[in-house]
Amino acid sequence: MKTIHILSEIVANKIAAGEVVERPASIVKELVENSIDAGATHVDVQIQHGGKSFIRVADDGSGMSQEDLSLSVQRHATSKIEAADDLDRIATFGFRGEALPSIGAVSRMKVRTRLRGADQGYELNVSGGHLESVEPCSCREGTIIEIRDLFFNTPARRKFLKADGTERNHVSNVLANFAVGRTDLNFSLTSGDKKIWSFHQGETLPGRAAQSFGLARAEDLLEFYDEAEGVKIRGVIGKPTVARANRSSQIFFVNGRMVKSPALSFAVQDGFHGLLMHGQYPVVVVEVQVDPALVDVNVHPTKQEVRLSNERLLRSCLKRAVAQRLSQEDDMAPFLQAPARTQLMGSAASQWQRQASEKQAWDAGTEIPIFHAPSAEQMIVEPIALRNKLHITKILGQIHQLYIIAETEEGYMLIDQHAAHERVMFEELLKSFKAGEVKQQGLLLAETLEVSLKHSEILEAHLPSLHKLGFDIECFGEQEYVIRAVPALMGGVDPKASLQQFIEQQEAGKQVTDLESHPEELAALVACKRR
Ligand code: ADP
Ligand code: MG
Repeated sequence: MKTIHILSEIVANKIAAGEVVERPASIVKELVENSIDAGATHVDVQIQHGGKSFIRVADDGSGMSQEDLSLSVQRHATSKIEAADDLDRIATFGFRGEALPSIGAVSRMKVRTRLRGADQGYELNVSGGHLESVEPCSCREGTIIEIRDLFFNTPARRKFLKADGTERNHVSNVLANFAVGRTDLNFSLTSGDKKIWSFHQGETLPGRAAQSFGLARAEDLLEFYDEAEGVKIRGVIGKPTVARANRSSQIFFVNGRMVKSPALSFAVQDGFHGLLMHGQYPVVVVEVQVDPALVDVNVHPTKQEVRLSNERLLRSCLKRAVAQRLSQEDDMAPFLQAPARTQLMGSAASQWQRQASEKQAWDAGTEIPIFHAPSAEQMIVEPIALRNKLHITKILGQIHQLYIIAETEEGYMLIDQHAAHERVMFEELLKSFKAGEVKQQGLLLAETLEVSLKHSEILEAHLPSLHKLGFDIECFGEQEYVIRAVPALMGGVDPKASLQQFIEQQEAGKQVTDLESHPEELAALVACKRR
């Protein structure tokens, strides 16, 4: 018969690590949170092998005294709260005193720290949960934490780590999210001896968000503010033209803490009503400030979810702020009252002739303004005319920056500008593919594609032709691929989404195994996945 006993601190820490430390990115998250809590203005992160073999987080924050340093690696040791009711108004990222002991339990950890104004620094070493040493050292003010050999003593967990490139991307995303949330601080990421990126104090929110989301133009992000009943909202939304195929470019902060919030995401989506097509998700960053007493941050082990007691108010506030901001844009304003774009599209065809029945629909849409677009001519006429053997005699104008209205020999027609642009890209890709002179565009941050085993076979079979088309895709392990470059014409296209769709189409049996002789398949695909 077994009797009950209290777990040793080392075992307890290892268990806690199971919740807090999932992968290198989770360590980076915890350490950067500590740096920010310590008032740092510079946070520099360095990793090797995606953080699996080495992570270093250096800050210029408050530093720790020798005594605090020793305490910091003990379970439930925190400088951030004292009594239970402090939990009701937490203003720091940390409060559980679990991160350092948990990280130290599953790695070799070295902490060097010097309290601001002190003339001496201290170094502490922990290995697999055992405190090995605390001794004086020379170091600058602030704290440097180095983690080596993650999960060296828990091999089962090490097996779950992904390829270096995948882990590096996770680290990069986590850190970039902090950088977007704290534009007043400096951040940098180095991998091996390569500086991946850096953010500097003084950059604006749209600037940082654009860089972090890989948008070429910060002007595609619109800033907005709102305030109601003690809720303050600030953020940026991407114009509909830069919407994505999933929610990966949406970041929400509540009182500075990044949270996952489907509710807030839906509120933003609602604010866009009619401006996005089905399956499109806006790029967005939202920062919410509310009374900390209305937020419960103590509901999730890694503090990624929070409970808000006035979520409904927040949602309606957010929706309104987004809709208002969009309505201020000249080129989008009429859009809000006009029939939804999908209704106008009718079919997937890139143009339709306006006929009697449709005329009624138009008339019902009352007062649809027409804008003149001088550049439309070069952009549209050629491919459409080519494909449809239609003779456009004159471009009359542009509607909602979505449709071109043109005169033809028989009457007039509307051209879906988006579809026409796809068509242009398609023709150009095809042409350069056939001529064997495809231009590549390197990605600022390589993207990682994880696929099923079956899908990896399909992808593998098509790698050579994808390369010919301009993709630089490298295999990492069986089911992971790193995308480093895309066809230059695809700038702004979501490479993961297009490849995923390509694989799925192949799988669905629309098989064109020999892409070399049917490059249209591939070109069509990459041409239609604009971000
Ligand atoms: P928590 O953040 O929940 O308090 P941690 O285990 O993350 O718990 O950290 C324990 C304590 O160590 C913190 O409360 C803080 O006092 C100290 N500490 C950790 N990292 C730093 C740092 N980079 N600079 C200054 N103090 C730190
Ligand atoms: Mg912490």
